[in-house]
Amino acid sequence: MRAALWSALFAACGSAAAATPARMPTLPAPHQPLQCAEDAGWDDPMPPRHLFGDVWYVGTCGITSILIASPQGHVLIDGGAKLGAQRIEKNLRALGVDLKDIKYILVSHEHFDHVGGVAQLQRDSGAVVLTRQEAAASLKRGKSDRRDPQFDVLDPFPAIANVQSIKAGAGLRAAERTIINVPMPGHTPGGSGWRWRECEGSVCLNFFYSDSVSAISDKTYRYSDAGALARPMQQTLSRLEKAPCDVLMTTHPSSSHLIERLEGKEALVQPQACRKLAESAKTALKLRLSQESANTAP
Ligand SMILES: [Zn+2]
Repeated sequence: MRAALWSALFAACGSAAAATPARMPTLPAPHQPLQCAEDAGWDDPMPPRHLFGDVWYVGTCGITSILIASPQGHVLIDGGAKLGAQRIEKNLRALGVDLKDIKYILVSHEHFDHVGGVAQLQRDSGAVVLTRQEAAASLKRGKSDRRDPQFDVLDPFPAIANVQSIKAGAGLRAAERTIINVPMPGHTPGGSGWRWRECEGSVCLNFFYSDSVSAISDKTYRYSDAGALARPMQQTLSRLEKAPCDVLMTTHPSSSHLIERLEGKEALVQPQACRKLAESAKTALKLRLSQESANTAP
């Protein structure tokens, strides 16, 4: 299916952006070693890293944030936790990126550990925040509602301005690539993945930024209740399983060994990674549903 293009198409850039191309990131020298503990906290800082093409890791040791750079304006995915904006902005500055050149912030899901820094990042950049319609109200309010499996135990986050909805399967054009929204409800009602084809010279790879796929909840929520997220999660996992996926990135880097892959300890390109992540999440969901039917869910 041909993706519908997001209508704004960097409209915010206007003609001024065309006249003055965005400054492209450059690797700071000297190359600082990564010092992430195995049980790294969400706000533990790490220096930025180049992934491939014009894609950069600008998150922390515990929470992923991705920069997709283009002379027409940059795109950022996710904004980290409490200190997310501070950490991400420091990394962007280290790469020589002007925050005002960020035109869109794409969001995975409406939980404070991934959007805690988005309000400030949006303020400092002036970017449009793009999400699925199911997450938009929560992002604007800074709090989820009872449709969220973890509602009773979630921390609020700073309310986000300039939130717009993107249709499932629609695309955002950013220079020569189209970043496509992949609906991934299950962990939350409004979860999104984002995929695109990234090229470096003549080599092109399918990049997939997966939302969290864990079926965890507070003490009252039941995935198996009518209208709850069991069925949407199964559909999400089928989508993840079949996705074009050479390079998997996950909202928590540990879920895809992203730090190890950035350090060169494991291969960056792992074409089976989406399928494997989907399989393990399917097994966990089955267990969860059987626990609910036996009244032994945690
Ligand atoms: Zn979450």
